[in-house]
Amino acid sequence: MSVNNLNFCEFCGRKQEEVKHLVAGPQVFICDICIDNAYNVLTAENNKTEDKLIDNFNIMKPNLLKLELDKHVIGQDKAKKVLSVAVYNHYKRLINNNKDNEIELDKNNVLLLGSTGVGKTLLAKTLAKTLNLPFAIADATSLTEAGYVGDDVETILTRLIDNAKGDVALAEKGIIYIDEIDKIAKRSSGVSITRDVSGEGVQQALLKIMEGTEAAVPESLGRKNPNQEMIKVNTSNILFIVGGAFPGMEEIIKKRHKGNNIGFDTKGENNKVLVDNVLNNIIHDDIIDYGLIPEFVGRISNIAPLKPLDEKDLAFILTEPKNSLVKQYQKLFEMDNVKLSFDKAAIDKIAEIAIDKNTGARGLNSIIETMVLDLMYEIPTTDGLKQIKITKKSVLGQEKPKRIMKNGN
Ligand code: ADP
Repeated sequence: MSVNNLNFCEFCGRKQEEVKHLVAGPQVFICDICIDNAYNVLTAENNKTEDKLIDNFNIMKPNLLKLELDKHVIGQDKAKKVLSVAVYNHYKRLINNNKDNEIELDKNNVLLLGSTGVGKTLLAKTLAKTLNLPFAIADATSLTEAGYVGDDVETILTRLIDNAKGDVALAEKGIIYIDEIDKIAKRSSGVSITRDVSGEGVQQALLKIMEGTEAAVPESLGRKNPNQEMIKVNTSNILFIVGGAFPGMEEIIKKRHKGNNIGFDTKGENNKVLVDNVLNNIIHDDIIDYGLIPEFVGRISNIAPLKPLDEKDLAFILTEPKNSLVKQYQKLFEMDNVKLSFDKAAIDKIAEIAIDKNTGARGLNSIIETMVLDLMYEIPTTDGLKQIKITKKSVLGQEKPKRIMKNGN
């Protein structure tokens, strides 16, 4: 409505200049403040979905959760089990503590320990997707104590709220994955002096949100702005999964076991102690020895070591998971009406090359991408093409991928 050519909100009467936005409808206006209030009324209603969330979860017993993880993540059975049980307990705790029971259940946060590209992030991501919960990833190395150059720890929570499409109540039950946690161990060095050098400050800040606190977080991401509106987020029901490669951890574990080889297979190849076998013996004290502060480690109740992936695993990863790389590329080619196939020997060769790169499954995509780039460039404008066959020789660059035309040539 206009009064003397001035627009105002029909609901609260505020004038255009008193509000940030005035949204126009057919002959009516509503201001951003009233939209916000209406939204809050609706989300309060929707918060009853909280119970639904827990009900839904009730049917997600650890074994079912693991089955879901199996569809996307190859191997890593122990990590899947630890995560499935941790999540199940996490939600039991939610139900229990909601009911004001006499026994308060402690929070379970999880540490995934394994080298790069073995599925740590994928596990956390798949978990969130399966449970239909908001999820946020952060890299511990980009986090700083408040006041230093970099992201404050609270920005992770802003990201989570963003991923929950602004639903704070839902974000408060979400999952946060913090990668490269080993890099903020106290012994890390060589970081710029504009950062909190020891990493201990970041650990302290993370500790606070991991153990459960009412945090004030900026409403939106982006440049730090002192006048930015802050939202209150209670972190006590957020599940934190932290991950890291922890290079050198085997030495700490072995030192602790000095004199006894219990649990270690010392008769492995070249009489070497198998790294994954050693990591299976990890205890909380080893992580403290590594340089994470005891209070921080105290918030982690479950440690799940992930195994390095071997050639067979990588070949499997290429072809078997629901969204495997091979299936994805086949889909892309299919959209141009061309069948893409890989010889088994080609798959094995790609896996072998990735092993040499030492980047776990991370390297697989770039290997295939480089291989099929030219094809993806040509195919949309090539008539009569029926099939492309990737052979071992074409992986090695010794021949071009085989082209089969519709006319049989
Ligand atoms: P990181 O352990 O470094 O967090 P990621 O989970 O990010 O590794 O894995 C990188 C990519 O490699 C993923 O996107 C996924 O495609 C693939 N990948 C890694 N490990 C596995 C696995 N165990 N099963 C299936 N895919 C995997």
